Amino acid sequence: MKYWIVSKDDAISCGIREKLTEKIHFELNQANPDLIVVVGGDGTFISAVHQYPDAIFFGIHTGHLGFYANYTLDTLSELIEDINNETYHIEKVDVIDCELTTLEQKIFAFAINEMTIITPPKTLILDVNIDEQKLETFRGTGLCISTAYGSTAYNKSLFGAVVEPNLKAFQITEIAGINSNQYRTLSASLLLSQERTVTLEVKQPEEVFVTIDHLSYHLKNFCSAHIKLKPNKISLAHPKDISFVERIRRTFITE
Ligand code: NAP
Ligand code: MN
Repeated sequence: MKYWIVSKDDAISCGIREKLTEKIHFELNQANPDLIVVVGGDGTFISAVHQYPDAIFFGIHTGHLGFYANYTLDTLSELIEDINNETYHIEKVDVIDCELTTLEQKIFAFAINEMTIITPPKTLILDVNIDEQKLETFRGTGLCISTAYGSTAYNKSLFGAVVEPNLKAFQITEIAGINSNQYRTLSASLLLSQERTVTLEVKQPEEVFVTIDHLSYHLKNFCSAHIKLKPNKISLAHPKDISFVERIRRTFITE
């Protein structure tokens, strides 16, 4: 077993990093690690997942409880024991696979939180198709397509539904959709099963910004995007289970 640590560079995170390297018995290996320990927050976790999609992830939250970071400063010794004795439980986390087509290129990417598409400072106009069927012509600021894990991130700020992670589903949430005599959108978050493929299509190639988690793409001649759920892509290690209800209560309602 080889492991690597991806951490924020604040003093607390660096201290934890030092302690971990002292106590974990395995070999540190940046190029080809089997395990990744992420020290920081959910943001640090997301960027580590894009660097090492095939590793087993351990998240330590240095602030409040995180959605991906399951260990805290209080359970640090538990984490070290779990790694050294291989006594962790692995949860498989779903992502969305995104295929972006422009006149010049195709980009394949996955998102663990969400993909968004916007056209600042104008409004975005595109057709939203579910499988082969047209749902609507959307006009507004943009669209956010999120996973269950990502439902508590940007999606929640857009009043999308918070989704329990063991549901195999993904959702489309509007970013300021325009509704008038000319434009009509669903105006509600749409939760879809893993059987569905979402296609977003512009009539003419268009300059857009697409975000994939913390990454962004400025695409000059965007034509379409295909989005589908990809189940069980990321391996996330857990100590004893914190229930979904406890996690959302402690994060959003009361500690
Ligand atoms: P950031 O702007 O530095 O941080 C975004 C915030 O979202 C942080 O507080 C982060 O928690 C939290 N977060 C990330 N994933 C989460 C999840 N699955 N559930 C609950 N909270 C979550 O950006 P970043 O750190 O690079 O993270 C990128 C993410 O920012 C994107 O994937 C998107 O979801 C989110 N975002 C949100 C908005 C919005 O709500 N208006 C706008 C743009 C982007 P930590 O403090 O633990 O890192
Ligand atoms: Mn962050």
